[in-house]
Amino acid sequence: LKLSEGLNKTREQLTKRIDALLSAHRKFDDPFWEELEEVLIMADVGHQSAGKLLDRLKARVRKEKIEESEAFREMLRQELAAIFPEPKSVAVPQGPEIVLVVGVNGVGKTTTIAKLAHRAQMQGRKVLVAAGDTFRAAAIEQLGIWAKRTGADFFTKGEGADPAAVAYEAVDAALKGGHDVVFLDTAGRLHTKVDLMDELRKIKRVLGKKLPGAPHRCLLVLDATTGQNALSQTKLFNEAVTVDEIILTKLDGTSKGGIVVAIALEHNMPISFIGLGEKMEDLRPFSGEDFAKALVN
Ligand code: GDP
Repeated sequence: LKLSEGLNKTREQLTKRIDALLSAHRKFDDPFWEELEEVLIMADVGHQSAGKLLDRLKARVRKEKIEESEAFREMLRQELAAIFPEPKSVAVPQGPEIVLVVGVNGVGKTTTIAKLAHRAQMQGRKVLVAAGDTFRAAAIEQLGIWAKRTGADFFTKGEGADPAAVAYEAVDAALKGGHDVVFLDTAGRLHTKVDLMDELRKIKRVLGKKLPGAPHRCLLVLDATTGQNALSQTKLFNEAVTVDEIILTKLDGTSKGGIVVAIALEHNMPISFIGLGEKMEDLRPFSGEDFAKALVN
């Protein structure tokens, strides 16, 4: 699957309309900017981010005296790509790398962990997947099935166990088992937000005590189809555990792909992977440049 195909619905919303705008307007005047803003907002880029992006574009059009639509497209691609911060490089630790995975139920956290486990296995790393969402028996079972399918080891203490104890013992298991990386799943029940955030803080604390430097990375999984809700989830989880990277799932099923831009601009948060489908290979490393090229013809 090509990126541009995976982003088909967003392209319907964004790319086609930008094309239409560029052929309808002969000048980059106020009506043009107003329509462009509307197109961006419709694709869930968000008011604030659309405003910031437009300011940059206007300044460059003025400064560089851009008049042709080809030059405009090139500039738009550059400005879009420039929005995305690089994921911070994490030195691979001596012992197991501990990756804490957080996010609201239903966003695709379980499948994403399976996809990450698969990628790591393919790179020859020994993987342990740990079931830290002890709230839902079905979630544990699903994660176990996925883990086995990818060939990763699976750690669980069953339903109702203390998630912090799961975290602690999973690290122990990884140290003894010689695992290179641990993906720790966590609960995502949003109706008891406060408890959940306390629970995540505690997990983080316990991990750090057990293994200095852990968790080495904290990944937040977001569902692109939820549009602007993804922004408030970013804020919530980042306040609790300090998110290092975002994985945005289900971009294939939505015309709201502009949310990628909003997350990057409003939270200055790197996006490490995007989900373009349900299969193992549908998790793609994110590149701002490729994303911009896929969205601007
Ligand atoms: P969790 O509750 O967050 O663990 O969510 P699951 O991992 O169980 O995923 C919920 C649903 O979303 C499942 O049907 C997944 O197959 C689906 N899903 C996950 N990621 C993607 C994606 O990138 N694209 C599509 N189309 N579906 C996805």
